[in-house]
Amino acid sequence: MATVALDHIVKRFGALTVVHDLSLEIADREFLVLLGPSGCGKTTTMRMIAGLDEPTSGEIRIGDERVNERAARDRDLAMVFQNYGLYPHMTVAENIGYPLKVRRVPRAERDVRVRTAAERVELAGLLHRRPAELSGGQRQRVALARAIVRTPRLFLMDEPLSNLDAQLRTVMRAQLKHLQRDLATTTIYVTHDQIEAMTLADRIVIMKGGRIQQSGTPAEIYARPANTFVAAFIGSPPMNLMSGTGSEGVFVHPAGQVEIPSVPRGQVTLGVRSEDIRIVGPGQGHMTGVVFSSELLGDTTLIGVTVGPDLVNVKVGPEGGMRIGEPVSLLFDSKSLHVFDAEGQRLSG
Ligand code: ATP
Repeated sequence: MATVALDHIVKRFGALTVVHDLSLEIADREFLVLLGPSGCGKTTTMRMIAGLDEPTSGEIRIGDERVNERAARDRDLAMVFQNYGLYPHMTVAENIGYPLKVRRVPRAERDVRVRTAAERVELAGLLHRRPAELSGGQRQRVALARAIVRTPRLFLMDEPLSNLDAQLRTVMRAQLKHLQRDLATTTIYVTHDQIEAMTLADRIVIMKGGRIQQSGTPAEIYARPANTFVAAFIGSPPMNLMSGTGSEGVFVHPAGQVEIPSVPRGQVTLGVRSEDIRIVGPGQGHMTGVVFSSELLGDTTLIGVTVGPDLVNVKVGPEGGMRIGEPVSLLFDSKSLHVFDAEGQRLSG
């Protein structure tokens, strides 16, 4: 069983604290994604699990065992990094087989396992090539094959798809997910790309400034973001956020108002996703605005509307393009409103 537990982990570099009292449990076979903006401490957290960095305080357990004092090579995990870390002078087969070689697996067995791993990621025809003779996507698959050639307890992946172009990324994302299902190996995956996180994760942990902001399934996080940071980070486009005032069951904004029985008095932020807004005839909606932009995205059109001091995105059908400067009225779906307090913490729903 490869569960992982981080127990009150703190990491300081000199005077700088980059991970603050982080506690997290990862279930056996879970695909956990650490998501957050650059510098939020994702990689540092991963490196501590890997054994490449030591926590300043706190305990890390893999299975039932405390591993703080264990060297990286003795933690029985495999890592895939953004730059792949392939050895340029070795062939694809030698790169894939390297973890077996250092563990002194006999040659014949090694060859069989290298071939099996290579077939799994569709590299069987390229075993004699060197990394310089491969495309980015092929190199990425060599790094993956090298990770799966053993059956480690744990996979650690740090932005493994970020060097690929958008199309290849989508393909590799699906392959990665299948591979992890088939191998049934606990995986911790670091990314700053929310779409990657949404599509791959069983559970997402969102970090900011070395602290966990929210942990939940992709659907939970999308439906009920814990605070305005998460709301603004998840979704494309992210949730619309509007500052206003709560007063007697009404949210009051410079461009209109919305009845929300539960709204508290004082400063609040209203969140509405772009798919929960309709553009209606003048005077029929909650807020008035002016079309700022109209972008056809294929199956949808994204209309940007200036609403008082805010720019609100509305998703409409492919035929819904609008003229810039057109006055509009916005109607919000009253069942899909999110209310956050003055500190940005979720209040409703
Ligand atoms: P990115 O997506 O850019 O890789 P990240 O979320 O993975 O970001 P980390 O690499 O964990 O972030 O870095 C967290 C913070 O710790 C950053 O402010 C970084 O500058 C700092 N940091 C990381 N490693 C060191 C180090 N060895 N010495 C000093 N500061 C460090």
